[in-house]
Amino acid sequence: MLDDEPVGMTVQVVRVLGDGSFRQRLLEMGFVRGARVTVLKNAPLLDPVEYMIMGSHISLRHSEAAQVEVTDKDAEFCDMEDAFNGVVETEVAGVDPMADDVLRVVLVGNPNCGKTSFFNNVTGAKEKVGNYGGVTVDSKEGWFSIGGRRVQLVDLPGTYSLTEYSPEEMYVRTYIRDNRPDAILNIVDAGNLERNLYLTTQVMDMNIPMVVALNMWDELEKSGDHLDIEMMSRLLGARLVPVTAYNGHGVKEVLQATMAAIDESEQDTLHHNVNYGTLIEDALKQLGELCPDLDRYTVLKIIENDKHAIDLVSSQDNAIQVKALADELRQRIERDYNDDITSIITDLKYGFVRGALAEVFTTNPERTVGETKPGYSMDRFLTNRWLALPILLVLMWLMFEATFTLGSYPQEWIENGIEWLGGWIGKVMPDGILKDLMVDGIIGGVGGVLVFLPQILILFFCISLLEDSGYMARAAFIVDRIMHRVGLHGKSFIPYLIGFGCGVPAIMATRTLENRRDRIVTILTIPFMSCSARLPAYLLLVAAFFTANQGLILMSIYLIGILIAALTAILLSKTILKHDKTQFVMELPPYRKPTARNATIHMWSKGKQYLQKMATIILAASIIVWALGYFPRHEGQTPQEQIENSYMGLMGKAIEPLVEPLGFNWQMGVSVLTGAAAKEIVVSTMGVLYTGETDADEESTSLKEKLQTATKPNGEHVFNPVVAYSFMLFILLYFPCIAALAAIKREAGWKWVAFEVIYTTAVAWVVSFVFYQLAIRILG
Ligand code: GDP
Ligand code: MG
Repeated sequence: MLDDEPVGMTVQVVRVLGDGSFRQRLLEMGFVRGARVTVLKNAPLLDPVEYMIMGSHISLRHSEAAQVEVTDKDAEFCDMEDAFNGVVETEVAGVDPMADDVLRVVLVGNPNCGKTSFFNNVTGAKEKVGNYGGVTVDSKEGWFSIGGRRVQLVDLPGTYSLTEYSPEEMYVRTYIRDNRPDAILNIVDAGNLERNLYLTTQVMDMNIPMVVALNMWDELEKSGDHLDIEMMSRLLGARLVPVTAYNGHGVKEVLQATMAAIDESEQDTLHHNVNYGTLIEDALKQLGELCPDLDRYTVLKIIENDKHAIDLVSSQDNAIQVKALADELRQRIERDYNDDITSIITDLKYGFVRGALAEVFTTNPERTVGETKPGYSMDRFLTNRWLALPILLVLMWLMFEATFTLGSYPQEWIENGIEWLGGWIGKVMPDGILKDLMVDGIIGGVGGVLVFLPQILILFFCISLLEDSGYMARAAFIVDRIMHRVGLHGKSFIPYLIGFGCGVPAIMATRTLENRRDRIVTILTIPFMSCSARLPAYLLLVAAFFTANQGLILMSIYLIGILIAALTAILLSKTILKHDKTQFVMELPPYRKPTARNATIHMWSKGKQYLQKMATIILAASIIVWALGYFPRHEGQTPQEQIENSYMGLMGKAIEPLVEPLGFNWQMGVSVLTGAAAKEIVVSTMGVLYTGETDADEESTSLKEKLQTATKPNGEHVFNPVVAYSFMLFILLYFPCIAALAAIKREAGWKWVAFEVIYTTAVAWVVSFVFYQLAIRILG
């Protein structure tokens, strides 16, 4: 098995065991019969392992590599090029040019092939993020003009193929089926044609006009390899155009070729499809006759027993007949090839790609085969056994500092600006409810929205640089072993880390996770990473009630947060978010120079999403929390009495029996409730309740003293170290703030918001309860 092979060894794939999405993914990554794999290196924590296959670097966990059967004997595999049968031609009827008044072109391609760079280059930053069918997969829409015509360009998520197994792939499939674009622009990485063209073979079968943009052409030219574009165009029956997306060379030619392909499709045309050999071609023909409305791609998928393709015919009158025939054909094919249908089709597709490349592609003879490409040389340091973790930590620290330290300056300007505005309105408006609503409710709420913006912008600028350069995949490679312990992917690491600064950008950053299940588990556990807004409350309580070991006590709170997050992640992945198969399989793309342009566009688009999608929820909720503390009004009350008699105060008193077993009184209950808007408010509410000052912070000595001396009606002190610690635990664990919930709503939906509110509060209660009850018994 592949996981037994030592570093440096090159072996050939015999077969991939297992089933479902994992197996499919390995096959399409190139782990097909006869493919050569080289073991490159172990991750610093020894798992996962980096392999080279088809010129690209893939990392697999040991457990995954154990599913790949290999041989080191130069086995007598039948030459893969035998599978090359050239193409078959299908007649496709012309489309009526007036059928659709907008022209729509979609971008399809592997991850990291430069789709986004191309999209940004063509449309500028004027994009619109579209969400489709309730999945957390985005497509972006933009526009460009050419020859007096306006064309809509859609950037679909990057995929390696179009199966039914990942939400991204389903999204691309459904999008193309439902929208029937006028043309598909397939972006391929010219430096990695073998793998990239695999997807092309699937797109070809959709019988939609297709243009292939050979991106990264600059890299291909530098490498000295040669591609006969004209011959390849003739073979694929599609236009191939070289392009360098990140500087824009060739972009115009690509667009012109696309328009030409669209114009051509007004007449009947001959489309080229991969010739799968007589047996399968026959099967396609037989089944195609029963479903005349389906394209070749879908008919083939039905033969492959793809659930979604079969669903498409289920409403047809002859559905049963179709299914029966498909089963029969599949069995016949599997018997004949003595293999299962998934590997047969993948093999044939790869056979086609290799056969085609053998005719049109020549490798620079001066380059030795198997040598790592120049784009990987930095891995000598960045994923080095000893250096990798220190470098990762330094980079993360830099990113954290940039986001939260550098970001605190503009944040302060915004706060000052808001305060100034509030002060100004306070002066010009007559006293009354309207003024208070304006100043404390609305402007305060807007401030609560805007303060996050600098952090979000800086953070996403950094993340974009990390992602575009290829480092993000390395970070996941390095820490995967740790994250795997709790059932997650290495890529969850970065969002967690950001969570110590602020949960909102952290939750937004989970977008880099491909797997929806992992994404949800990460989102739900991020709030347990103690964010910076909770720190003032800890500082106040630690300073007031602990004299020795203050640092250790503070640290224990953070560690308990991490522990609860880990336990929650394990619990979730064992129960409601159980996964069918852990999948790590990840590509390590070559390092590339990220562009400031892409990073800036990414930053703006995240900032815009934040303002558009979350601002309203945060604003509305802040106003509600304000109103609960403001009403009902009574004349001549001190701020202290006001909040005590407000709805919030009444609620605090009402929940007192609930929080009493945790050692809390109603004032703490109220603080916890107002803290739902934002955790910083816990301290200021305590300030109002205990000192009557409206601007108390964690350094306020009068608040500290008041807390130390506060007594219950029976004369006991309200606070002591045990109560303070129990309160800190509760603040750490309960109800994420409203802004975080808005982010959860955006990324995961209301269902998970409800879950999170109940779950976190329950955990907080139980943990504080157990701690408090044990502590008072043990300590007497
Ligand atoms: P996507 O994942 O397909 O959207 O790919 P991106 O557009 O994010 O590009 C991935 C990386 O490749 C980025 O670092 C880009 O700057 C880089 N890149 C994109 N196009 C080219 C190109 O034509 N040549 C080179 N050398 N790099 C490119
Ligand atoms: Mg992209």
